[in-house]
Amino acid sequence: MIWHKKNPFKVSFFLWRLLKHKVAVDLNLGKFGINIPSMCSCCISHKEESEEHLFFDSMIGNNNWKYFNQVFGISSGPANLRHLMITWWLTKGKNDIQKIALQILPGIIVWQVWKARCKSRFENVKMHHNRIIPQICQQLIIIIHKQIPRIPPLLDWEVFQKVMEFAKE
Ligand SMILES: [Zn+2]
Repeated sequence: MIWHKKNPFKVSFFLWRLLKHKVAVDLNLGKFGINIPSMCSCCISHKEESEEHLFFDSMIGNNNWKYFNQVFGISSGPANLRHLMITWWLTKGKNDIQKIALQILPGIIVWQVWKARCKSRFENVKMHHNRIIPQICQQLIIIIHKQIPRIPPLLDWEVFQKVMEFAKE
């Protein structure tokens, strides 16, 4: 699932590092003896930056998952990032578009959050789900286009959702 061949290498590699706790969030750096005061980039009142916080239960993380869970009809039951991603991977899509999306979207979500986090840290661009969600949608459509050429790479997200909903099995 992590090495889903449809995902770009950089996304799969990031996901692999994330699941091995090797992503350089502040909390992980602390484990390697690099102690910096942790201030997450995702909240106004800065909290400690852990993987669970940044990618799952911060406002940014939470809004992303809430949005995409709803689009794909995934229950928001799972209590942590790993369980939620596994739930996505185990959910059966009703057609070829959904099947691919369910496999690759968790990786794209965490990848885009990480990119936005680094942009916030190093280029001072504030993280905002209004920017992150469209980027996730765009990357998803581009990757799906590579597998299913009838889906145009610049398809509008609303249209994409309709196409996915009504595509045959
Ligand atoms: Zn935060």
